[in-house]
Amino acid sequence: MSFFDHKDFDNHEQVTWFTDPETGLKAIIAIHNTRLGPALGGTRFYPYATDDDALTDVLRLSRGMTYKSAMARLPLGGGKSVIIGDPKQEKTAAKMRAFGNCLNRLGGRYIAAEDSGTGVPDMKAIHEVSDFVSGYHDKQDAHGGSKSGDPSPATAYGCYLGIKAAVQHKLQRDDLQGLTVGIQGLGNVGYRLAIMLAKDGVRLIACDVNPDALDKAKAELGAQIVGLDDIYSANMDIFAPCALGATVNPESLAKMNASIIAGSANNQLDRIETGELIHQRDICYAPDYVINAGGIIDVCYEKLGEYDPERVNKHIEGIYDTLLEIFERSERTQTPTSHLADEIARERLQDTPPTLGMKASA
Ligand code: NAD
Repeated sequence: MSFFDHKDFDNHEQVTWFTDPETGLKAIIAIHNTRLGPALGGTRFYPYATDDDALTDVLRLSRGMTYKSAMARLPLGGGKSVIIGDPKQEKTAAKMRAFGNCLNRLGGRYIAAEDSGTGVPDMKAIHEVSDFVSGYHDKQDAHGGSKSGDPSPATAYGCYLGIKAAVQHKLQRDDLQGLTVGIQGLGNVGYRLAIMLAKDGVRLIACDVNPDALDKAKAELGAQIVGLDDIYSANMDIFAPCALGATVNPESLAKMNASIIAGSANNQLDRIETGELIHQRDICYAPDYVINAGGIIDVCYEKLGEYDPERVNKHIEGIYDTLLEIFERSERTQTPTSHLADEIARERLQDTPPTLGMKASA
């Protein structure tokens, strides 16, 4: 099969395979679109079963980044990279530096960031040889005092605002007091989101594969713990998927009585058609790449200008308005929110590239 016939090829501008025999690096970098700026997106380190699985992932994820950044009105394009291998056994600083040399060969058309299997120390290793990386700074964070390049606090803040927008639209309420939120996954984003919700008087139901996170949520936040499969049918107003992709599907929807789905996970819907099913069920769904854009907004300010927590927060607060616009248009036009998000992102992709009023720096 020709590469150009690949089912996930979407007129990507550039897809490059890299190898470095000395460190064993095998990587693919996909640049989907740079109309609004350099392509920024995470570097996923994952033991793909086949090279085609890696290609499929990088093609899909890079396209998603174009939509996410355009929707968030950032001067960024969409790109993503994958490093093939088991991060627990095969990740070394030398390999990450070799990957940094690959970034240099693309001359800044793609900027790497952390993703599954990579973290701040890896971004620091890349930064030893390349400027085309983000998320390595030690900075004062605006959402909970973390001082690393970790974007999770910003993502959690955006999700919290997204839940408030959905509640405003669906339940006509400004506050969250007494509502029940079911959180799937109490990781970097999910746990921080849980803290913000608990402060607002939300009753929490949670599941996770990690018993330590569950014990902590029970002790610190009074969360009710349920089994992994029981979260969907839990008695909740809002389902917040903050773990894996594709957990919103016909099977989980059949069990769900929540009237809102709003969480941080990427690729929450198992397939496009599930967006229609959600709409038919009259569930208010906050499209994943809209509600979880806090992290990319944070990274963008860190990379392209002076990091000012107040300005970052203000930009993240735009997620609330964007979601309200999507919910209202969805109701008016009787179109699933997932379809509308794509439509609006494509409109914003044609806009003049935003500047954020920042002076460019690498
Ligand atoms: P994380 O790895 O820190 O947290 C994920 C949590 O989910 C972990 O606690 C893990 O134990 C739990 N989990 C794993 N399998 C589970 C299962 N089957 N059921 C329930 N829980 C399970 O990841 P994160 O950084 O918190 O990100 C969460 C989601 O949000 C991911 O989908 C990620 O791609 C997405 N996202 C994160 C950011 C960010 O800034 N971190 C930005 C955008 C999107």
